[in-house]
Amino acid sequence: MRIVLVGPPGAGKGTQAAYLAKNLSIPHISTGDLFRANISQGTELGKQAKAYMDAGDLVPDEVTIGMAEDRLDQSDAAGGFLLDGFPRNVGQAQALDAYLAAHGIRLDGVLDLEVPEDEVVKRIAGRRVCRNDSAHVFHVEYNQPEAAGVCDVCGGELYQRPDDAEDKVRNRLDVYHRETEPIIDYYKQQGLVQTIPALGKVAEVTQRAMDALRREA
Ligand SMILES: [Zn+2]
Repeated sequence: MRIVLVGPPGAGKGTQAAYLAKNLSIPHISTGDLFRANISQGTELGKQAKAYMDAGDLVPDEVTIGMAEDRLDQSDAAGGFLLDGFPRNVGQAQALDAYLAAHGIRLDGVLDLEVPEDEVVKRIAGRRVCRNDSAHVFHVEYNQPEAAGVCDVCGGELYQRPDDAEDKVRNRLDVYHRETEPIIDYYKQQGLVQTIPALGKVAEVTQRAMDALRREA
């Protein structure tokens, strides 16, 4: 299956992508991993991306599209893939369509993870991370530590990462609405979109997504 996963920050997209890819035995291709791999391997595209990032500029679509196409060309993606974070705007979606058409293939579905906006803000802004180990993550409401502000695992101090502050989260949501949400309409015109309510337990959301894909198949 060839799937695109879309959803606002805080929808649990990375987690769902990992589970779905495993269930479907297809590679999980995330933009974050693409950038990391290209930069650490020193590919031409990786060097270009790094130069933009070091200058504090956005990486142009051509660079991101090039990395995605190189990844899709690899043999493990021949039988299917799950894209997470790409495409992130309509231009990238059009480029992906052109790539797929050139290879005589098409997407099987686009999963749109839906979470109420206030819930996204609550989820992210309530996160507290341990200063000793960023894998020790708590939440002021959903996953409270035994003592407020203290890590249960190691006793370290818990803090809110600057990126998790409410105004930063609202900014990221604005960017999502403006740039990424239009691809949902773009794919709706192709009849590809399945909306998945993303509230509830991780396993329940995965099940909803699997059921939607089964209907699609
Ligand atoms: Zn800790």
